[in-house]
Amino acid sequence: MILISGKTKLLGIIGDPVEHSFSPIMHNAAIAHLGVDYVYIPFPVKSPDLAKALAGFQAIGVVGFSVTIPHKQSLFPLLTEISPAAKMIGAVNTVWWTQTGWNGTNTDITGFLSPLKTLTRDWSNITPVILGNGGAARAVVVGCEQLGCGKIRVVGRNLEKLQEFRQSWTNSGLKATLEIYNWSELPELVGDTEFLINTTPLGMYPNIEQSPLSTEAIKKIQPGAIAYDLVYNPKPTQFLKQAAQQGGVAIDGLEMLVQQGVAALEIWLKQPAPVDIMSQSLQEYLNI
Ligand code: NAP
Repeated sequence: MILISGKTKLLGIIGDPVEHSFSPIMHNAAIAHLGVDYVYIPFPVKSPDLAKALAGFQAIGVVGFSVTIPHKQSLFPLLTEISPAAKMIGAVNTVWWTQTGWNGTNTDITGFLSPLKTLTRDWSNITPVILGNGGAARAVVVGCEQLGCGKIRVVGRNLEKLQEFRQSWTNSGLKATLEIYNWSELPELVGDTEFLINTTPLGMYPNIEQSPLSTEAIKKIQPGAIAYDLVYNPKPTQFLKQAAQQGGVAIDGLEMLVQQGVAALEIWLKQPAPVDIMSQSLQEYLNI
């Protein structure tokens, strides 16, 4: 249980909408477990009110906050320091107050990389295939480059958006070669990779029968290939079940979700976060 007193320090999440966020569940579970005098609150903030909200946070001594849609990019001019990772992705998801102002970073890369650390692979010889070219795909691109992949393939259903996606990395500092492909090319690409990552919402609850892969593409999954689904509900997704049937190594999105939160909480509290408690709180809440 969290006991709120006159000394309780504030953390939270800003977004519009913010009601759907699971972050208060896992962060307050961690705060209660650690017995630290903090509370994590959802703050609905409309875009025109963003600067006012930050000034208000400063005035009342908010220690730090998470950021969700639509503020992940628009926050940039209000920050005094932005980490190289957040600059490269073009989005901030974690902010904290310092003596010089608000600092921001993006912990999605840390989250994405976490479950891959236990795998032994020669990443420089692997060309990942990323399904989808939205916000989450950006962190995955940077994560894959940090793993050591020299070439990254991104597959999307909208050629114009795909071209914009590729264009957006110009002058970003990304060294890996980024190739874009149309959805119809998926079966061939699947057969040619050891690392497949779904960053689309296909298969997410309640559409749990959906998969980003056609029957033809599923058959092409190589035994031993890594199938990573950013979707965390259900656990496992249809895509991961199919990949496992083909002999693939399945990784679901829950650890990424938890570990990006762990990285944020450790920035704010400056102490290790209870990973298992955070994971368990989400699994209980989501019933997965
Ligand atoms: P987003 O910015 O809306 O991007 C979604 C991408 O999926 C877009 O490229 C979209 O294509 C594509 N897409 C959507 N429906 C599709 C379909 N039927 N066929 C082919 N492509 C389709 O969303 P996001 O923020 O990147 O999130 C994507 C998913 O990742 C969500 O399920 C989210 O919950 C999950 N996620 C998980 C974590 C985690 O920690 N585990 C973190 C972030 C996100 P168009 O651009 O053509 O519409």
